[in-house]
Amino acid sequence: MLNLEIESINGMSIGFSPIRRGVPFSDCLCSRCGMGAEDPDHIFIGCLWARSIWWSILVWMRISFPVDIVNINELMVYIHKQPGSSRWKRVVYTVALATIWRLWNARNEMIFNGRFIPVSSTVDLIKEDAFLWLNNRSNIKSLSWENWGMFDISCLM
Ligand SMILES: [Zn+2]
Repeated sequence: MLNLEIESINGMSIGFSPIRRGVPFSDCLCSRCGMGAEDPDHIFIGCLWARSIWWSILVWMRISFPVDIVNINELMVYIHKQPGSSRWKRVVYTVALATIWRLWNARNEMIFNGRFIPVSSTVDLIKEDAFLWLNNRSNIKSLSWENWGMFDISCLM
């Protein structure tokens, strides 16, 4: 399941990649930091803006930021290897998927609508998405927004 979802995300971003459509290289620079070619590795991990978001989210979940990772697959493997119960892993994995979704969303907002979504707004949206996703599951109903804000998920364990 993990691999399938990652591949579909990679497939989606590769499919949309301007490089594939033969646009000159200068047009392919990242629309947010302007410092790298906009390939999936850059959009989701390499970009300073994406790294700031991952950093905020991982600190919130009390996971140290892995400075040497270069793509989503490596990050997911790193997250998966963290010590924790299977429920904890499921929560963290849900947050990671919400992060990937919001990074992609914010990237498209910039490219198609010229709207820059700040790091703090994206981080808030990720927390909201993951909270709603978790609360919509029938077996996880007891999570309060206050506890979620502190990443206190003891009620789920
Ligand atoms: Zn960038």
